[in-house]
Amino acid sequence: MRAVVMYAPGEVRVDETERPTIVEPTDAVIKLAATCICGSDLWPYRGADDVHHQPMGHEYVGVVEEVGADVVEIRVGDFVVGTFFSSDNTCEICRAGYQTHCVHRGPGAVPGAQAEYARIPHADGTLVATPAMPDHDLVPSLLAASDVLGTGWFAAVAAEVGPGKTVAVVGDGAVGLLGVLAAKQLGAERIIAMSRHADRQSLAREFGATDIVEERGDAGVERIKELTDGLGAHSTIEAVGTQESMMQAIRATRAGGHVGYVGVSHEVVLPGEELFFSGVHLHGGPAPVRRFLPELIKLIWDRAIDPGKVFDLTLPLEQAAEGYRAMDERRATKVLLTV
Ligand SMILES: [Zn+2]
Repeated sequence: MRAVVMYAPGEVRVDETERPTIVEPTDAVIKLAATCICGSDLWPYRGADDVHHQPMGHEYVGVVEEVGADVVEIRVGDFVVGTFFSSDNTCEICRAGYQTHCVHRGPGAVPGAQAEYARIPHADGTLVATPAMPDHDLVPSLLAASDVLGTGWFAAVAAEVGPGKTVAVVGDGAVGLLGVLAAKQLGAERIIAMSRHADRQSLAREFGATDIVEERGDAGVERIKELTDGLGAHSTIEAVGTQESMMQAIRATRAGGHVGYVGVSHEVVLPGEELFFSGVHLHGGPAPVRRFLPELIKLIWDRAIDPGKVFDLTLPLEQAAEGYRAMDERRATKVLLTV
């Protein structure tokens, strides 16, 4: 089968590889309907994470081809949406809604989903079947649910977004934009998107942003304060993962407010004294997308939300290298790869 492999930073190839097979009796093998490139794939692409001959991709939707002997819920022929970490969905941590921290999770993200087939561990816990085969036009939105929508949604929940709240969103990548969509769905009164790109600003508005702030860093914090009677936002979504973005999120939040941080943290160091005096709640980490999948699939199935709009470039799998370049150069927000 064809699969995307990152040989080294900046070096992406499409290789002919072995089609995965069932290894554990709880596995499933799925045939991908579509896959995509994640903002987090840019960390190794840019050399910020080590990478050597790594099969890429952790966002996926597709049809179940084969299941192991112990798989009972998921059946061959189901159309499924899965999550980037596998989880049994039965342990105490999973049942508390933190499936990304499942005690049986395994060492890392489900690898190799930018491919024609993928092996999914803990199929019954990790995968959610759609009510039927989806219409073709729903596939991008279901694919978005696999990570970026679920992650933006968790960020909003972690930031305690709700009716009457003012929400600030730091980061205008796919997760930030879908954090805006989540905030709108969760009833936020005012949603301030921080973005300096016209196309992303317009999608943010479409998803429910009421205000746009172009300034960054301390100037961005000042603008948020001006828009909130000097207090800061009730809820702030942090969807970048850098020192600047994290401090921007904390400083843009009022005392007693909440920051939901989902940008994969890269060398962020928090100043204890400033945190102590901020009075801000922090919650985040790798989003337990599995917790939200049934609800998100229903919203997509009912056409209540259209998160697939974050895909602004579609390429065949063979052109994955161009997809990575386009995202790296910010010519594309998120790239869908057809299989
Ligand atoms: Zn578990």
